[in-house]
Amino acid sequence: MATLLDGRRLAAEIERRLAAVVAEGRAAAGRPPGLAVLRVGDDPASGVYVANKEKACARVGIGSHGAHLPAESPAEEVLAMIRRLNADPRVDGILLQLPLPAGLAEGPLLGAIDPDKDADGLHTLNLGRLIKGEPGPRSCTPAGVMALLRQGGVPIRGARAVVVGRSILVGKPMALMLQAADATVTLAHSRTRHLAEVTLEAELLVVAAGRPRLIGAAHVRPGAVVVDVGIHRLDGKLCGDVDYAAVEPIAAAITPVPGGVGPMTVAMLLVNTVVAWCHRHGLATAELADLLA
Ligand code: NAP
Repeated sequence: MATLLDGRRLAAEIERRLAAVVAEGRAAAGRPPGLAVLRVGDDPASGVYVANKEKACARVGIGSHGAHLPAESPAEEVLAMIRRLNADPRVDGILLQLPLPAGLAEGPLLGAIDPDKDADGLHTLNLGRLIKGEPGPRSCTPAGVMALLRQGGVPIRGARAVVVGRSILVGKPMALMLQAADATVTLAHSRTRHLAEVTLEAELLVVAAGRPRLIGAAHVRPGAVVVDVGIHRLDGKLCGDVDYAAVEPIAAAITPVPGGVGPMTVAMLLVNTVVAWCHRHGLATAELADLLA
């Protein structure tokens, strides 16, 4: 039976640590940390995600300064809002909730966020910092996976790791973070031939393909650690990119869906916001050093 990599439990522990850092630094900073989640349009799943993020902020003592613009907002209006948030001294982190309504291009809007307030770590400058191994806010989902692996005592140095999926949001930064932690990394994608032959090499398999139950027992080397980033609603139930029932018996450790990577993504968003607040006010971040991938 595989060890469960429990993201819900670790995220709760990270929230407690962040709440302590916020409580300790608040007097010196003269204000609480602030996160602005900017939502454009009415994507229903985004509504749930934004509400969850704001609730998590409240638990930690982070102020929410979000804005919700109508779906038909022109890019200029969204840009103006981003510039306002960049200049707002109460705001340490800005997150543009994706997906955007059709017709609004992500690139220029993400690029307009002040890189030091880039709570999602998706700004070109911050992706460059990741490549160069320089400090900066990291993409929340892969940073959350790294924290979960470290906390679970999963050996990364020298491990054969395979990441399935090469998106800017998850797969590519994931591969870079594993490589920075001295894994030997292969990045697979939709054009990879004989996917199972590649994934069977993995001692550590991270799946972010956005395909429900793509990975079955035939893809997994016995004793591998399997991280499932995917999230889908199938027949009214949540499932991931990994066929959990088939893979769990042969894996050494595995993340559940829900309760694995999802809560860690939110936790790392809070980490990025609190760390940015610490930097703005000259407060130490040593307390959180183990969470900075
Ligand atoms: P994405 O932008 O759609 O990227 C999917 C990647 O998977 C692409 O690189 C694609 O290859 C590759 N792929 C698709 N089908 C494949 C196949 N049959 N075999 C191998 N590779 C395949 O998705 P994403 O934003 O990275 O998200 C991936 C999944 O994670 C989604 O289910 C998403 O909902 C979930 N997610 C969860 C969280 C969380 O907090 N739990 C956060 C973010 C995302 P090509 O590049 O060749 O097209």
